[in-house]
Amino acid sequence: MNSSLGSATHRGHARITSLCPIRQAIDCFRMTTMSDAVPESTLPYPPVYKDKRFVVLSDWDGTITTQDSNDFMTDTLGYGKEKRRAGNLSVLEGRQTFRDAFREMLESITANGHSFDTCKDELRKNIKLDSGFKEFNSWCSANDIPVVIVSSGMAPSIRAVLSNLVGDEVASTIDIIANDVDIHPDGKWNIKFRHPTSGFGHDKSLAILPYKELASPPLLFFFGDGVSDMSAARHADVLFVKQKDDGENDLAAYCNREGIKHIIFRDFSQALKVVQSVVSGEKTAEEVLAVDKA
Ligand SMILES: [Mg+2]
Repeated sequence: MNSSLGSATHRGHARITSLCPIRQAIDCFRMTTMSDAVPESTLPYPPVYKDKRFVVLSDWDGTITTQDSNDFMTDTLGYGKEKRRAGNLSVLEGRQTFRDAFREMLESITANGHSFDTCKDELRKNIKLDSGFKEFNSWCSANDIPVVIVSSGMAPSIRAVLSNLVGDEVASTIDIIANDVDIHPDGKWNIKFRHPTSGFGHDKSLAILPYKELASPPLLFFFGDGVSDMSAARHADVLFVKQKDDGENDLAAYCNREGIKHIIFRDFSQALKVVQSVVSGEKTAEEVLAVDKA
């Protein structure tokens, strides 16, 4: 889905004064993250890469892929684009959490009788990779830089699309930290949130923070495009924000407002050049962030 989120707390509603949807989402986000305890994870995490000099963490939908796969499923198999956009808006206005709106969107797909296998088939047929990602990933792999996908989507459908696009062998080298799915005997299915007590469903900052606690932390590159990436954005050493074709960019708006330095990129081939310049030692993180466009 459109990566937007919000807080449904009464306190959250009372303090939202801005008429700008992105501002409201940011206000909701700040209140959620600043006041809530660390949510417990219902799903395991892959091991932290302790001995690497560099680690890449990236959002999946709209960042590694050109189109948001959950929006696609909801629009074509669920209750359609109009209702999906109303759900996005309700999140942006703080009337609903990202988690609850997203769950409803996915429920509309099962209500129409579509199995999870059907969803995976449709995604495999329709979702495409960023044109530079394959080369980016193979360069990282050859240079001992792990690539980890951090997503608000469901790991089994991400894995299916990734294997289809880059092959099983390459896909198996990429960790995925996401939500999961519960499939029932009658064929119905529902999303299993990693952090069910969080309004985000999956708080992405919890994938990045263990790295910051290491004695010798690696330099972290983070790639994202939406509001669901906001929680992780401020913890990256080098943050890349994907340029959107429609000109709207919630993550960039958040970073600009919060003074978080970031690099705008159009595709991973542009980003690769920047990553290479840091890995080779030609430039520092500060130097590449000062340029702000890949
Ligand atoms: Mg995204």
